[in-house]
Amino acid sequence: MRWSWKIGRLAGIDIYMHATFLLLVGFIVVASWMESHNAARTLFGVFFVLAIFGCIVLHELGHALTARRFGIRTRDIVLLPIGGVSSLERMPEDPNQELLVALAGPAVNLLIALGLFGLLATLGRVPTLRQAATISWTGRDFLPSLAAANVWLALFNLIPAFPMDGGRVLRALLGKRMDYTDATQVAAHVGQAIAFVFGFLGLFFDPFLLFIALFVWMGASGEAGMVQMHSSLGGIPVQRVMLTNFRTLQPDDTLAQAVEHILADWQQDFPVVFGSRVLGVLTREDVVRAVAQGGTGKLVRDVMRRDFQTVDSHDMLEQAVQVLQRCRCRSLPVVHNGELVGILALEKVGEFMTMRSATRRGEQAVGAAKAAA
Ligand SMILES: [Zn+2]
Repeated sequence: MRWSWKIGRLAGIDIYMHATFLLLVGFIVVASWMESHNAARTLFGVFFVLAIFGCIVLHELGHALTARRFGIRTRDIVLLPIGGVSSLERMPEDPNQELLVALAGPAVNLLIALGLFGLLATLGRVPTLRQAATISWTGRDFLPSLAAANVWLALFNLIPAFPMDGGRVLRALLGKRMDYTDATQVAAHVGQAIAFVFGFLGLFFDPFLLFIALFVWMGASGEAGMVQMHSSLGGIPVQRVMLTNFRTLQPDDTLAQAVEHILADWQQDFPVVFGSRVLGVLTREDVVRAVAQGGTGKLVRDVMRRDFQTVDSHDMLEQAVQVLQRCRCRSLPVVHNGELVGILALEKVGEFMTMRSATRRGEQAVGAAKAAA
């Protein structure tokens, strides 16, 4: 994620802090100073927020370490003002595993809260129910407030709506009875209904609820979109979608050759090959830039990218699309046994998916017509 700084590494996972997180700290400083005009109290407020975010890191580690037990790696954890985000490389497709991964985060917060209440009890400072239910942002009653914050974190995250953990819990429970894509659709609809209720209440009572509603609404539609793509890419090998009719360049070709291919409407990115081995990639942008700087006489070998990714024609489309997204490429050379066999273009993948879902809907319509007849 851009605008993020690495602040540490825990259990082999990099922890990043997003720049907007500083806005939150700044806000706390200003708010506590306005309220108390007391430097010690202000410092205490900042310390309290940092302690809460420490608990959020542990919450995310709960997800990440549970996922690791199922063989799923976590790329990183990013702290945002609204909470933490762990980037798991994928979600488990087994509903029981998804359930455990989703529950692990809130469970960590409940454990922390129990631990803190236990500690307070041994100190002979058992908080009253009222004390336990209120969070003091100026840091008075530090431990009871931190315990209360952890209870809230657990409850808030269990709201059954994406992107909260509760949305995943709901999908996992539904997923035991129905297909993964359908379970996601139902969970997303429930999430949007909840967002609607929050938004409605927010209009009358608390503007903060409107903000949560927006957040939940976007999360629900995002998750549904991702799973649709996921299920329509599943089980399709790259070779079914790759371009096999394309142009390549030689290292000793001049850019004039590349310009000719571009004008003749061949693909946008050209593998540079020696025999059938790929040595580099020349993109349309590279050509435009190099020609603007030095004309078309330059050699392809001096302009091409030597640092590029490839996919295998037997790879599944799902992984290949992830490679495309990670390198922010428009296309990738497809190789098999070290030889160039095709080009995978993101645009073609999109077209393929559109046609496939249209075909499916067509089949369903025909099937329904037959059933009616
Ligand atoms: Zn969580």
